[in-house]
This record gives sequence, structure tokens and C-alpha cells, in this order.
Amino acid sequence: DPTQTSPETSDALRCLRRVFGYDAFRGEQEEIIDHVVGGGDALVLMPTGGGKSLCYQIPALVRPGVGIVVSPLIALMQDQVDALRALGVRAGFLNSTQDMDERRLVEAEFLAGELDLLYLAPERLRVDATLRLLDRGKISLFAIDEAHCVAQWGHDFRPDYLALSTLHERWPDVPRIALTATATDATRTEIAARLNLREARHFVASFDRPNIQYRIAPKNDPRKQLLELVRTEHAGEAGVVYCLSRKGVEDTAAFLAQHGVEALPYHAGLDAGTRAANQARFLREDGVVMVATIAFGMGIDKPDVRFVAHLDLPKSVEGYYQETGRAGRDGLPSTAWLAYGLQDVVQQRKMIDGSEGDEAHRRRLAAHLESMLALCETVDCRRVRLLDYFGQPSTACGNCDTCLTPPTTWDGTVAAQKFLSAVFRLARERRQKFGAGQIIDILMGKKTAKVIQHDHDALTVFGIGTDLSVAEWRGVVRQLLAQGLLAVEGDYGTLVLTETSGDVLGSRRQVLLRREPEKPARAAKARSE
Ligand code: ADP
Ligand code: ZN
Repeated sequence: DPTQTSPETSDALRCLRRVFGYDAFRGEQEEIIDHVVGGGDALVLMPTGGGKSLCYQIPALVRPGVGIVVSPLIALMQDQVDALRALGVRAGFLNSTQDMDERRLVEAEFLAGELDLLYLAPERLRVDATLRLLDRGKISLFAIDEAHCVAQWGHDFRPDYLALSTLHERWPDVPRIALTATATDATRTEIAARLNLREARHFVASFDRPNIQYRIAPKNDPRKQLLELVRTEHAGEAGVVYCLSRKGVEDTAAFLAQHGVEALPYHAGLDAGTRAANQARFLREDGVVMVATIAFGMGIDKPDVRFVAHLDLPKSVEGYYQETGRAGRDGLPSTAWLAYGLQDVVQQRKMIDGSEGDEAHRRRLAAHLESMLALCETVDCRRVRLLDYFGQPSTACGNCDTCLTPPTTWDGTVAAQKFLSAVFRLARERRQKFGAGQIIDILMGKKTAKVIQHDHDALTVFGIGTDLSVAEWRGVVRQLLAQGLLAVEGDYGTLVLTETSGDVLGSRRQVLLRREPEKPARAAKARSE
């Protein structure tokens, strides 16, 4: 009934059909678009693949003037603009990859009113010339993509984004829409404050991805574990494997290829041609496994990625959510599998200690790591914990590893006391610090060369831990680290006590630990035929 639809809505719907070729809006798209077309500010939280782009592209086409899109993803701008141009949308971009002539051309198009959308790198808005340029044209809206980058509390802070707070002062009548795929309540509040979005309407889509099975396994022999996962559950299917380092990427891709898996590497150290070719094969062919650093994935729209595997611990829950979110965009059952071990904690602590930036910055990084560790060590439903992190209450999913094979907890107070007192004795009696391996050897009463060399078999704690296996001890150490009862220091992963260790040693605090289930969860149970 045409009398019931507002003229803006029908313009928007017509635009969706004619320009983009889709029949209907998804989720809250229509409401968001309506609101922005009507001149309102908006803050949009929508998971990856939710369809954020249309939320600003359509209002930019419907409203008079040029829509300015601020995005940090410079490498994707060319593709985004090409894709829009192929649809007949007049789009252009300005960033540091262009030479003077290219920039002049885009500026001229903007001033002549020949653009519908102009993509800008955030640092452009720190340049006065850009602001003056924008003054001379007509702007329909500002879209601030990846808006979490403005939040210092977030996981991906970019100082250039702070300049965006001035948009509102300079152009008070132009509506602004900020979009992000990940933000906790704290980050969302910070985004609203920093971007002057006090009046903005918040649109928060559900972050639940029920078709993704979340699994976090103790890391033993990660490449073999990965191969097992691919062979038994995802043979011939497309997947993404994330590694922290370029070398990790190369080695893992080679390992998988050697064992008959169609695997390709992707990282910033490869030349542009190889990267483009590998990406194209991943997108076009069936069943290619892309082994990559987190440089890969942003803006990649492949619906049938059946699994995302992490061989190294992500730096934050936000990162984990974003990366795993690339699995199963088509809604079919998919796996998010992470292998995590003691060495991950050691390595990340080292990176935090050595990171640039002030103490507050390091504290934020440490807080992100702690949240990630808490997710790894939880005995509750992974999905509940994940959604809870983003402020969305839910109930046990029945599909993640902890739901399928619930881990039990055990009173690890005595084990913790043994381990902590070994650390304490080494420090006090010997003025020595060691990593987990040596301390476990001592507790297990192993007369290794290194134990004998340091005379560690003379310690009173020597051999007092034979009631647990080495794997169990490693679990104890991981969880003491996750609970802040133990800390890693320096380049060699040496262990030191924390302020709270004393509470355990003095029996003022009980330590509950997670016992790994005997048989880890398999997807077979959860997959529909
Ligand atoms: P996001 O930016 O939230 O990750 P995109 O804007 O890239 O998501 O959209 C993801 C995919 O969904 C794209 O291929 C897009 O064309 C498609 N899409 C978005 N909205 C609709 C819709 N209303 N109908 C059909 N497909 C849509
Ligand atoms: Zn669950």
C-alpha cells in the first residue's frame, strides 16, 4: 500500500532494487537507512557480513550531495570503488596511494557534483586543505566505518580517528553514521563520546552466530591437530587458518600442502601479485584453505568458508570474534577452532611488555589478553561468554566444545601452592627465575641435565608434583597465568609471583581449575546431514 510507505522508504527500496539488485532489506537496514535519510545520526553495531555498507550507501544516493565515507582500509578502497562503479554508482576515493594528478581528478569530480560517494582515509581529514575542499562541495552524510578505531579502549585504536570529532562542529547539519562490527559496551560509549554522537540512535544487531561451533583446544602439536581437523571434518572445504607470524604462515601452508591440502599462504611480506593471485583462487575455487596473518580477511566476502582456525592466540576477544566471524556467512554449520597453549601467553606478554606506547596503553593490551584467556579457560558455554563480552545475554548454545563435552573443575589449590612455592623458592633461595618447563621438571622430580647443572634436585620441592602429568601441570600454569596468580617476565618466559600469589600460598584463596575433557568435541555431532 503506497500510502503507508514514507516517500524516503520507497526511494530507498527503489534504490536497493535498481542499483544493488536486491529484493528486500535485511534486519535493521531499512530502519537505519530511513533514520539517516531523514537526517538523523546513527551508531550501528552489526556483525561482519551483516550488510553495513548499504546503510550508508543508499542514504548517500537518496540524499542530495556527496556521501563522505571515512575508512582506514586504504588497501580496499580501490576495490570498493570499482565495485560501486560497476553498479553505476559514481564513487571515488582520496588516499595516500594516489599521485597528485589522480587526487586532482577526484577533487574536481567532487566539486562538480559528479560523485555520489567519496571514500577518504582518516588522515586526510587532518589536512586543512581537505576540510576546505569539503566546504566547497555539498555533503549528504558522513559515514565513519570501523568506528571502533576511535576508541582508545578498543582493540584497534587509530590516532587519526580522533580528528573525526571535529566533523560535527564544522558541519552540524550533516547526518553522521558510525559503523562497527565489534564493540563492547565500554567501547560503544567511548565511540559515542569521541565522535560527538550524543543524539545518535543506536542500532545494535545481535552478535549471535548460531551456525558457528566454537572450540578451543589445548595446543600440543598444532599443525598435526589442524591437519586432523581438516581431514576428519573439513576435507575439500574452504577455510582460513590464522597464524601470528609470516614464518608461521609459510610453514603451515607448506605443511598442509605437503599433506595434500589445497593450502595457500597470504601475508604482507608476499609481493602484491602473489597475494592477489592467492586471494583470487581462494574466492573462486572450491575448497582452498588460506593460511594467513590477520592482514587477510577484511572486506573478503566469501559465504562458504566452513572453518576458521587459529594456531596462535588472538590478541583480544574482539579480534577473535571478527576473525571467526568470517566462517559460515551462508548460515550453514561451520567451525571456529583455536589451539592455545602456555607459549601463547608467554609470547603475548612479551609483545605487550615490548610494545610502544605508554603504560596505560600496555594496561589496555593486558586487559584484552586477560579477557581472551578467560574465554579460553572458561568452563561455561563459549558462546554465552562471547556474547556476554559484547553485552548480550544468552543461554547455553549446546553446540560449542564446553557444551558438548563439559569440562569439570577441580580444586587446584594444593597444585597451585606447589607450583608457586617452587617459583618462590627459586627466587628467594637461589635468586633464580625459570620458565614453566624447568619448574615442571623440578616438580616431577626429573633429573635432566639442566636440573642437575643447577642443583635443583636439592630443592625441597623436587619431586613433590608426581601426582599430576606434565600436560596437567602445563594446564595449571596456563590457568594460574589466566587468573593473574602468576606472571611472565622478560624474553625467555621466566615466571614470577604476583601480588595475589601470596593469597594462594597463605591458603587464603582457593584455586578452581578446569580439567580438560577426555575426548575433545567433534563437529560430527553438531552437523546436520
Ligand atoms: P559488512 O560491511 O557488514 O561486513 P557488507 O555490507 O559487506 O557487510 O554486506 C555483506 C554482503 O551482504 C554483501 O555481499 C552485500 O552485498 C550483501 N547484502 C547486504 N545487504 C543485503 C540485502 N538487503 N539483500 C541481499 N544481500 C545483501
Ligand atoms: Zn555452548
